[in-house]
Amino acid sequence: MKTILVTGGAGFLGSFLCERLLGEGHHVVCLDNLQTGSLRNIDTLLPNGRFTFMPHDIVQPVYLNFAVDEIYHLACPASPPQYQADPIRTLKTSVLGSMNMLGLAKQWNARIMLASTSEVYGDPLVHPQSESYHGNVNPTGPRACYDEGKRCAETLFFDYYRQHGVRIKVVRIFNTYGPRMHEQDGRVVSNFITQALKGHNLTVYGDGSQTRSFCYVDDLIEGFIRMMHSPDDFVGPLNLGNPGEFTVQALADKVIRQTGSTSQITRKPLPKDDPARRRPDITLAGEKLGWKPTVPLEEGLKRTIAYFQTLLKEGG
Ligand code: NAD
Ligand code: UDP
Repeated sequence: MKTILVTGGAGFLGSFLCERLLGEGHHVVCLDNLQTGSLRNIDTLLPNGRFTFMPHDIVQPVYLNFAVDEIYHLACPASPPQYQADPIRTLKTSVLGSMNMLGLAKQWNARIMLASTSEVYGDPLVHPQSESYHGNVNPTGPRACYDEGKRCAETLFFDYYRQHGVRIKVVRIFNTYGPRMHEQDGRVVSNFITQALKGHNLTVYGDGSQTRSFCYVDDLIEGFIRMMHSPDDFVGPLNLGNPGEFTVQALADKVIRQTGSTSQITRKPLPKDDPARRRPDITLAGEKLGWKPTVPLEEGLKRTIAYFQTLLKEGG
C-alpha cells in the first residue's frame, strides 16, 4: 500500500483518479482548494478510512508530516473561461504551485507526474501533434496564462529532474470528457450536453469547422496509472488522448442526435487564439505503455449524457 498525493483531486479528472487509486488499496491524500472542483465529486470517497481531504492552495508551500510515495499533480483550472477568469492566479498555480509540489517530491523522494496539456502545442502548425513538436503558442494572448503556465511547469519538471534527480513524469492530455465535468465550466462537451438536455440552442463558436479529439475519462486514467508505473528513465513528455478527430459542428450534431433533443444551433464568435485543429499522435504511448483508448465517442457521450440527465433531475 502506497501513500499517494493527488493535487486537484476534487476536480473532474482528479476525482476519478482518487477513486481508482483507493480501489487499488492505496492511502490517498486529495489536496485541493475547491476553486473549480467540488466536495460533491468526492462525497462517496470521504467516508473511506484510506482517503484524506486536505484543503490547501498549492500556490502556498505545503508541509507534510508523513511520507508520500507518489504525487499526481493535477491542480489547475482547465476550462478556458475558468482559467481566463483570473489569469495571474492561473499562472501562479501552474508555476509556483508546480515548484511547491516538486519541492515536496524532492523532500520525500516521491515520483511526481504533471498533468500537462495539448495546449502546449498552441494553434499547431503540425498535424497530428507528436511529442517532438515544440508548438505554436501566442505568449501574449488570452490563453497564454494556461499554455505558457503549463509550458513553464514542464520546464520546471525537467529542471528538477536534471538538477536534483527528482523522479518526474510529464503527460500532455488532449480534451478529455466524462461524468463529473462541471456543468457550467464552459467546456464544449458539458456545454453541448446540458444545452441539449435543457432544450436550449447549442452554442457553436465560429463556423464549427475547428477540430478536437475527445478522450473518455476512464481511458485517460488508465494512461496516468501506466505512466506512473513506467521505468524511471522514461519521463515523457507523453501524449495521452483519443486520436479520433471531430469538428465541433459534428460533435454538436452527435449530441443533438444522442439526446433526442429538439435544440438548434446558435453561432457565437470564435474566441481569440482558439486552435483550429488538434489530434494526438499516440505512437509513443503505444510503444512505451501499450496504451490506447478503448471507449469510442458515441459510447462515452452516452455515459456522460446519462450523468447529466441525473444531475439535472436532481436540480443541478
Ligand atoms: P478541474 O477544474 O475539474 O480540476 C482542477 C482541480 O484543481 C479542481 O478541483 C480545483 O479546485 C483544483 N485547483 C485549481 N487551482 C488550485 C490551487 N491553486 N490549489 C489547489 N487546488 C487547485 O479540471 P480537470 O479537467 O480535472 O483538469 C485537471 C488537470 O488536467 C489540470 O491540470 C488540467 O490542466 C489538466 N488537463 C485537463 C484536460 C481535460 O480535458 N480535462 C486537458 C488537458 C489538461
Ligand atoms: N466551443 C464551442 N461552443 C461551446 C464551447 C466551446 O463551439 O459552447 C468550442 C471552442 O471554441 C473550441 C472547442 O469547442 O474550439 C473546444 O473548446 P473547449 O473549451 O472544450 O476546450 P479547448 O480545446 O478549446 O481548450
